[in-house]
Amino acid sequence: MSDHVLVRWTIVPRDCPRPVLACPTCGDARPFHPSGKIRLNANGKRLDAWLIYKCDDCDRTWNRPIFERRLATEVPPDELAALRTGDPAFVRRLAFDLPALRRKTSLIVQSDTVEIERVVVGGKTGATGAEIALAVPYPVGLRLDRLLASELDLARNRIAALAGAGRLTVIGGGNALNRPPRDGQIIRLDLVGVEDAPAIVAAAG
Ligand SMILES: [Zn+2]
Repeated sequence: MSDHVLVRWTIVPRDCPRPVLACPTCGDARPFHPSGKIRLNANGKRLDAWLIYKCDDCDRTWNRPIFERRLATEVPPDELAALRTGDPAFVRRLAFDLPALRRKTSLIVQSDTVEIERVVVGGKTGATGAEIALAVPYPVGLRLDRLLASELDLARNRIAALAGAGRLTVIGGGNALNRPPRDGQIIRLDLVGVEDAPAIVAAAG
């Protein structure tokens, strides 16, 4: 029987990634943010769809192609309905789709502010360790060691020291502490004999 508290952290960036583009109105590079709107154009049997962004400073728009010249019959009906109605959940998923944005522009500002939903899924009081399963549905622009330091209320060099002593392990991670957290990673803390173990375990949950 494990003496670990088992928790799940769902990590969601507060803001979606923002492309930095040359804005003709401002005459300089500016971050753009999604307006929350989609444009859908029909051209015979073919459709174009864009996600509309706006310059942070002057509101000039940039249209990010979702697809172009696609046969309407090839678009799945639920996707077409979401495009037509501008379904907010669908728009949000597009706005957070970092790989798709990267295909259109290379300079991207990513938020390092995240919101974390914690759920304790098992374990017992008096545990000397914790297993934190990470759910990361959207890419996060924050290093894992910074995230753990702030969430566990420890200094970043303490995180490194715990990792170096084998008391903090990233399962499915390799040298993962200096990279952003990834979906499915598990942080295992083995803290038998560590003086402030109860405080760390409590912070994890
Ligand atoms: Zn502008």
